[in-house]
Amino acid sequence: MDPKEKERLLQADRRYVWHPFTQMKDYAERDPILIEKAEGVYLFDADGNRYYDTNSSWWVNVHGHAHPRIREAIEKQLRQADHVMFAGLTHRPGIELAERLVQVTPQGLDKVFYSDNGSTSVEVALKMSFQYWQQSGRAGKTKFAFVENSYHGDTIGAVSVGSVDQYFSVFRPLLFAAFGVPSPDPRNDPNGDAETSAAAALEAVRALFAASADQIAAIIVEPMLQAAGGMIMYAASYLQGLRQLCSEYDVHLIADEVAVGFGRTGRMFGCNHAGISPDFMCLSKGLTAGVLPLSVTMTTAAVFDAFYDDYAKLKTFTHGHSFTGNPLSAAAALESLQILEDERVLEHVEEVSAHLSERVLRFQAFQGVAHLRTLGMVAAFDLYKDAALGARYALEDRMGFHIYLEGLNEGLFLRPLGDTIYYWLPLCTTKAQIDDIVERTFRVLRRVLPSAGE
Ligand SMILES: *Cc1c(COP(=O)(O)O)cnc(C)c1O
Repeated sequence: MDPKEKERLLQADRRYVWHPFTQMKDYAERDPILIEKAEGVYLFDADGNRYYDTNSSWWVNVHGHAHPRIREAIEKQLRQADHVMFAGLTHRPGIELAERLVQVTPQGLDKVFYSDNGSTSVEVALKMSFQYWQQSGRAGKTKFAFVENSYHGDTIGAVSVGSVDQYFSVFRPLLFAAFGVPSPDPRNDPNGDAETSAAAALEAVRALFAASADQIAAIIVEPMLQAAGGMIMYAASYLQGLRQLCSEYDVHLIADEVAVGFGRTGRMFGCNHAGISPDFMCLSKGLTAGVLPLSVTMTTAAVFDAFYDDYAKLKTFTHGHSFTGNPLSAAAALESLQILEDERVLEHVEEVSAHLSERVLRFQAFQGVAHLRTLGMVAAFDLYKDAALGARYALEDRMGFHIYLEGLNEGLFLRPLGDTIYYWLPLCTTKAQIDDIVERTFRVLRRVLPSAGE
């Protein structure tokens, strides 16, 4: 890009744009990176520099950028019908995608409700569950339970069932009260044992349900991986226990698969690791291969039937968004599911994820690296000032941020979560690319962390 044009754009960005989750003052003396092109696992900036998109463009990208089949599917649909409302009208991609999703998701999820982002898919699940109990003679079930360190989105309802306090405490007065239960985070166990942590966390759920299940409509959980809460990976037995407790105490189980859905953890869905079916499943991010906004809330015939009645009975689910079921997004999603099958993507993931978990062991050479963990295409570790003493860096140290800046010089877009450094790789990433990413990260750590060996 012409340097003058680049300058003009960055000035206009500074003047007019307010970026998400961004302290804009961070850009007073530093420009955001102006991306001109995205292709495969790479992003290219206005100066032609190449970066590995190690967080898949905020966890959404599945098959790499600019996949020709996704582009063609969108172009084809664009020539057919761009957007049509989804109440009173329907269309082929909306219908066929619903049919396909029912086939690929765990058994029992037979109904598909569309919206347009992950937060709204969560809002829909909460509202459906709430209204279900109102219409099923259990009007006292009005509250929700959530797992600590969860993130379910940024709308008021989604924030109410989330708990990333540092970010959200300012909104506390606006939120509805909900029951928090401890995370099955293996780091909660002195020996770091995942099964022990899961069992302890389940005991807390049982205690809550035993005391209050008659007030609780649903519990919401991020299957296998609490992503925004710090890439916390936990045992599948927790999900199995949760499913049992929900059935035993008549509480809906909402699986928020917005982040983990579509192969990121090595299985198609997080729930597949545990072989369970939830009562609601929320999907977004990777649904359209990460190319267009779309989300779904899937649920069971039992839930659907509680809303199915004569109009005058007022049991309708009165919720919907302007872009509900957008045909372009649905066409992209359908094609993405077909690519997952045709290109045997999950087999590829199985192979390269084993390679990834082996390669990242190199980072153990650094004294400040702790709790190295991997699941599918996700790898993470925590930065400690002194791992042996359990001493973390101060907020002002912004260690994660320094690593991010240094990563840019190494051609890595490596966005941290506080002091948790992670990869969230596109499913198409190759072994050679993983080797290169790990090598570059190693060089970054060697420059930023106080002491290193190898
Ligand atoms: C990102 C995310 C959401 C929110 O999705 P948006 O599309 O950003 O609204 C909800 N739940 C989980 C688990 C997420 O990671």
